[in-house]
Amino acid sequence: MLAAEVADRSAPAPFMVVGKVNGRDTAVRAATPAEALSRMLDWLADDADASAVWYLREDWPGPVTVIGRPAPGTEREARRCAHLFPLEPGTVLDGAITARCGARLALPEIEWLTLGAGMPCERCLAKAAAGNPGPRLEGGRG
Ligand SMILES: [Zn+2]
Repeated sequence: MLAAEVADRSAPAPFMVVGKVNGRDTAVRAATPAEALSRMLDWLADDADASAVWYLREDWPGPVTVIGRPAPGTEREARRCAHLFPLEPGTVLDGAITARCGARLALPEIEWLTLGAGMPCERCLAKAAAGNPGPRLEGGRG
């Protein structure tokens, strides 16, 4: 049995964190963006020169939408609404990330939320609805 598989719990882990820590190439899975970020911070605590990025696995079947808001202290409280961030499989995330509404947030300054937490960004919700037509109720059968 591979040691790496011991940590592989049954929970789906759509995210990959890859980087270089103490000169070694390192890769781990993460179930949530928050977990991915905490791995990266662990690595940086270990090695101040560590570099790391995270992304939605390229073999994941489709885009995943994650929810986050500016961390406490980075924005006025009234502006800390929860944005929707669509992630494409295989797209590496480092630096900053753009929400559906166009808001761009620095990754280290995002507080990741679970679905339903926080005050949703209305512009993100409107874009999500517009981008996902879904079944329409037609008015009349003619
Ligand atoms: Zn938004």
